[in-house]
Amino acid sequence: MRPFTYERARSPAEAAAAARRPGTRFIAGGTNLLDLMKLQIETPAHLVDVNHLGLDAIEPTPEGGLRIGALVRNTDLAADARVRRDYAVLSRALLAGASGQLRNRATTAGNLLQRTRCPYFYDPAQPCNKRQPGSGCAAIGGITRQLAVIGGSEACIATHPSDMAVALRVLDAVVETVDAAGATRAIPMADFHRLPGDTPHVETALAPGDFITGVTLPAPAGGRHFYRKVRDRASYAFALVSVAAVVQPDGRGRVALGGVAHKPWRVEAAEAALPDGARAAMGGILDGARPTPDNAFKVTLAERALASVLAEARS
Ligand SMILES: Cc1cc2nc3c(=O)[nH]c(=O)nc-3n(C[C@H](O)[C@H](O)[C@H](O)COP(=O)(O)OP(=O)(O)OC[C@H]3O[C@@H](n4cnc5c(N)ncnc54)[C@H](O)[C@@H]3O)c2cc1C
Ligand code: SF4
Repeated sequence: MRPFTYERARSPAEAAAAARRPGTRFIAGGTNLLDLMKLQIETPAHLVDVNHLGLDAIEPTPEGGLRIGALVRNTDLAADARVRRDYAVLSRALLAGASGQLRNRATTAGNLLQRTRCPYFYDPAQPCNKRQPGSGCAAIGGITRQLAVIGGSEACIATHPSDMAVALRVLDAVVETVDAAGATRAIPMADFHRLPGDTPHVETALAPGDFITGVTLPAPAGGRHFYRKVRDRASYAFALVSVAAVVQPDGRGRVALGGVAHKPWRVEAAEAALPDGARAAMGGILDGARPTPDNAFKVTLAERALASVLAEARS
């Protein structure tokens, strides 16, 4: 690990201001950042500890939703009675991720900003446009079983690994930030994560130094909530494909997929077909997909996982 300096911020504004210093990273639970530092994939010169800012509350909003502080731990969010009752897809997605010990540390903001699990990103001996812009992409033509089938580019075909983010996308959550000048922004989840394009190292709509203060959920949508995660083993594994769905009694609903793209993938085509419920209608939910021979199975897996969720919703 390279040497770095450390400070403990006392307010969100102070944290954002501290990030003016070049090479600064915020550290929350540290469950992703520290691993990346040990591998020298992340080499911050300065760490700003944001664990003591009082951003660990889940509070009702005037609009009837919930505001989740950036430092709320994944365990506490999944266990919150209001989340379990009104936003069950979120609770289930969180509980499908990582392990109990990791969820006890992992935070809402850190989970959103965790880096890809592309194996080449973690191997400094391999070219990777995300780790080192302009160096190339070892995954293209390499081992791609875990990687994206839709929304990729000639520069990168990585997936976003977060389960929580897929649920937040289906719930139309909004990410709140503050910058060094004290300006705040509210970024809809639809716009928060980016597709790779020519700049896969730019993963979100955040500007350098932007600090996430919280995530807001709109008033509950009702309906039945599902999170189905398909993976190589039953725990402690990232999704090959996941389905987050909120299905209303009349069959209308919302669907987002994880494990298929560089960001949570909302599938409006499937939403239009939901009242129909026909299995055949779920074929083509990933129209425009460009899978590799290694990961073409994900397209069928996504269709079947969604069909299975809808069958359960009708039962
Ligand atoms: C073995 C293992 C298995 C895992 N399995 C899964 C899984 O199945 N599903 C899943 O979804 N996740 C999984 N994870 C990932 C885990 O959920 C993330 O590591 C965790 O959510 C990151 O949160 P953190 O608070 O520890 O982030 P940190 O590591 O502290 O930070 C991550 C990033 O977020 C930035 N950051 C943190 N807080 C803020 C803020 N408020 N504003 C701006 N930037 C901020 C940091 O600078 C850093 O760049 C796994 C992790 C491990 C190690
Ligand atoms: S797919 Fe993306 S993360 Fe993986 S090697 Fe290529 S550029 Fe790097």
